[in-house]
Amino acid sequence: MAGGDSVLISMDRSPAHVQPARPPRLDIYVAATVLVAAASIIAAIHHGGLLPTRYVGAYLIFAALVFVGELKVVTWLWTSDDAQITMSWGFAISCLLLDGWATTLIVVALASVLADVHRRKSLVKVAFNAAQIVISLTTCWIVLSAILGGDSFSVDRSIGARWLGGFIVAALSLLACNSLLACTAVALNERRSISRALRTDGMANLFADGALVALAPLFVVIAQRSLWLLPLALITAIVVYRSALLAQEHQRDARHDPLTGLLNRRAFLERLRMSLADPHEFSPTVLIIDLDNFKEINDRLGHHVGDLVLQAVGLQVVGERLPSRYVARLGGDEFAILLTEVSSREEALAMAWSIHRAVEQSAMHLDIPVAVTGSIGMAMAPKHGDTVSEIMRSADLAMYSAKQSHSGVQVYSPNEQSRERGRLSLLPELSDAIAAEQLTFRYQPIVCSATGAPVKFEALIRWEHPRSGLISPGEFIPLAEHTELMGPLTEYVLEHTLRACRRWQREGLDVGVAINVSGHNLRELRFVDTVRAALQRNDVAPHYLEIEVTENTVIANPERAQAVLLGLKHLGVSLALDDFGTGYSSLAHLRDLPIDAIKVDRTFVSSVVAEVHDREVVRSVTELAHRLGLTTVAEGVEDAETLAILRELGCDYLQGHLIARPMAANELPAWTASVLARETS
Ligand code: C2E
Ligand code: CA
Ligand code: CA
Repeated sequence: MAGGDSVLISMDRSPAHVQPARPPRLDIYVAATVLVAAASIIAAIHHGGLLPTRYVGAYLIFAALVFVGELKVVTWLWTSDDAQITMSWGFAISCLLLDGWATTLIVVALASVLADVHRRKSLVKVAFNAAQIVISLTTCWIVLSAILGGDSFSVDRSIGARWLGGFIVAALSLLACNSLLACTAVALNERRSISRALRTDGMANLFADGALVALAPLFVVIAQRSLWLLPLALITAIVVYRSALLAQEHQRDARHDPLTGLLNRRAFLERLRMSLADPHEFSPTVLIIDLDNFKEINDRLGHHVGDLVLQAVGLQVVGERLPSRYVARLGGDEFAILLTEVSSREEALAMAWSIHRAVEQSAMHLDIPVAVTGSIGMAMAPKHGDTVSEIMRSADLAMYSAKQSHSGVQVYSPNEQSRERGRLSLLPELSDAIAAEQLTFRYQPIVCSATGAPVKFEALIRWEHPRSGLISPGEFIPLAEHTELMGPLTEYVLEHTLRACRRWQREGLDVGVAINVSGHNLRELRFVDTVRAALQRNDVAPHYLEIEVTENTVIANPERAQAVLLGLKHLGVSLALDDFGTGYSSLAHLRDLPIDAIKVDRTFVSSVVAEVHDREVVRSVTELAHRLGLTTVAEGVEDAETLAILRELGCDYLQGHLIARPMAANELPAWTASVLARETS
């Protein structure tokens, strides 16, 4: 009944083709329990008549109810099919108390076998579950006879304190025996110690089972007095059972991720904490897996496919499971695995790589047109941290570095990752840096391809860190993009760059300024008001401001981004699509987004000389842009040959080191003057 299934859930979850081999000791154990159970039944038959001599009617009703309980005939009673509590205990013990030891054992064994066969469980599970119930009931019977004397403990005795005491001890020994048998099987199956299995799984369902067991004497009294009362007692039993089931589901929901059925973050951290505190477990090892291209899958194929991928990954990772492995979905496309019994770094690493392969295989079963890959970070206690937060952080950093280096699996290495850690620790300082105005700008000219005259300067942010020196945006913008800091940061950018623009214009330069914004900014309609206010405050006409967005930022929330961009467009601000060609480029964006310009990414630009294909891409994009009334900017122009080809291809504007490197705001007037002088000479 309850408990036995807990061994089986973990096996049931793995897909058949990768099911791990059953440990031989488990087979021996199952065979032994079956033998003991068979011996119990023979002893019981030998001990007395098959049926009780009195209350046969009541006995038969209870026996029938054992079948009803096991087979779950009344389907509305159970909430889900894998519920591990059944109602049968109460009825089975009632049968026992009515003096039908032998028949009761046969009835419960038969009911259990039928139910398990119906649920298509394997032969081993069918045999073990039946044996487990028979042995537990036999234990109960032996304790009852020992305490209450002979086999006259049951029906006709007056039920007093002594009887109650005897019954409670017997019921407890039944539950203990049941739990011990189940946990031993779990331990053998997962190759861990029985005491640990008892600690983690032993208490499961104890209260629910106990409550149902406690109803047995009431049933028996009813059998003696009047069976007409039975429906009333059954209602109580059903209510107890339903609430036990609901409580169990509630508990499971609180610990599991609903999408994949894996542990959730909370349950995982709890497991990790237990594991770190357990002196028996050597080198608890955490693997954190993050899918590399999940966003792309979600964006391109929809959330439904995204969900299927997450489920497939979960299933595949669990399918590859080795003993004592705990798998969780931490959230989003991030999974974690706890390995509790790896004895060396090499063994853990081999496991990590096999999981890496499993993740890659997960999409194959789904027939989706993208490959799923993951980056795995690994950290081992106590070397890489001895508290939950330390070890998770180390694994996280290792994962981050696996992702950056496209290396697949990365073990935490304090030296290598201290740089990463340093980078992450920048984040809390960033808001202070905004307040202290440590963020400065370099401006890079964007010039007219035909005349060479600057039309605008792109503002590129730098962090003048008091200790670390100049930090480039690539090191902190991607971090800030996941936080609320992006709002204030962009306001800061607007304020400072518009101020600079106003200054240039006062100095006689008729140029605009281009700024970069992130997807975070396009999520709020308020952003349009922020821009309008900044333009007014700094007295800059809207068409002097260009806002650069990337396709990826638009894609995250297309409707909202579209609305924000339209609002900016109405303001009179000009809009450019940055890094064109690197993201989820879609021609539909060119048509649908209210943009004025496309910035062709430097990966194409830098190879227009050497690569015919890239040259054709730039030519086609330029032609298309012109047909749609857009202008093109070529980014990353580094040499004269490239510049000549870009002119020939019809690019309208150019930007790159050949024209000018990013400069401080006050260098720009002199630079512009020299360019214009060269042009006129
Ligand atoms: P981006 O918008 O594509 O900016 C162009 C980047 O290419 C700049 O790097 C620039 O210095 C570099 N670059 C320019 N010409 C050349 C060239 O000829 N060759 C090569 N190899 N590189 C060239 P930077 O300044 O490190 O900026 C990196 C990225 O950081 C920017 O890419 C932009 O996405 C982001 N970023 C910069 N400033 C801001 C900002 O104020 N706000 C936001 N949200 N993002 C910013
Ligand atoms: Ca840009
Ligand atoms: Ca760019």
